[in-house]
Amino acid sequence: MTSYVVFGLPGSGKGTLAPFLQQHAHVVQMCSGDLLRTEAKRNMQLQEQLQKGVSIQDSYVTRLVMARLQELCRSKTKFILDGFPQSEKQKEAMELLFANNPDLNVQFIIIDVEKEIALKRMASRFSCIECFEIFNSETRPSQKSGKCDYCLGSLKQRATDVGEAAKERLKSYEQTTRPIIEYYRQKSKTLVFDGNQPLEKILEGYKGIVQK
Ligand SMILES: [Zn+2]
Repeated sequence: MTSYVVFGLPGSGKGTLAPFLQQHAHVVQMCSGDLLRTEAKRNMQLQEQLQKGVSIQDSYVTRLVMARLQELCRSKTKFILDGFPQSEKQKEAMELLFANNPDLNVQFIIIDVEKEIALKRMASRFSCIECFEIFNSETRPSQKSGKCDYCLGSLKQRATDVGEAAKERLKSYEQTTRPIIEYYRQKSKTLVFDGNQPLEKILEGYKGIVQK
C-alpha cells in the first residue's frame, strides 16, 4: 500500500495531482493548507492570521498535520500529503512517524517548476473570504464570476500570491524546504515531474503513477 508525499512550489501543479490521485489511486488527499483552512472555521485567531496572510507557527502546523497522519496510519488509510514537511522540525516529526509505522510505504514526488511560471500561476489564484476555498482563473474558475462555488462568498486575490510577498514565499521555500527535498531525493526513490508544461501535459504524466 503506497502513500504519497508531494513537493513543489506554489503553482507547480501539485494542487492538480492530489485530487487526481484521490480519484484514481484511492488515497485520501491531505494538504497542510486545507487542514489550516478547516481549523480556521472554528478558530478566530487562526482565521485572522490566514486573512492577513501571516505565516502560521511551525509547531502548530506540525501538531495539526501529525494528528491527522497518525489517525490515517492507525486506520491503514493511504494518503497523499502536500505542503508538509516544509522545515527541518517538520521533517523530524515525519521521520518519527515513519519509524513508528514501519509498514508505511511512501513514494516521494517532486514537481519542478520555474520561478517565473510559479509566480504567474499564483497570480491567477483567488480565495473565498468566507470558507478560504481556492480557485484559479486559468485552471479552476468558479462557476459564478467572483463568487465561491460552495458558499457564494466573494473571491479575493490573496496578498501572499502576488508581488513581493509571492517572491518572498518562493525565496523562503528555497531556503527552508529545498534542503528537505534534497534529503528525500538522496534517501528514497523519488518521482520527478516537469511542472513547467501545460496542465494537461502534467496530468498525462501523473497517469503513469497509477498505472504502475
Ligand atoms: Zn466559500
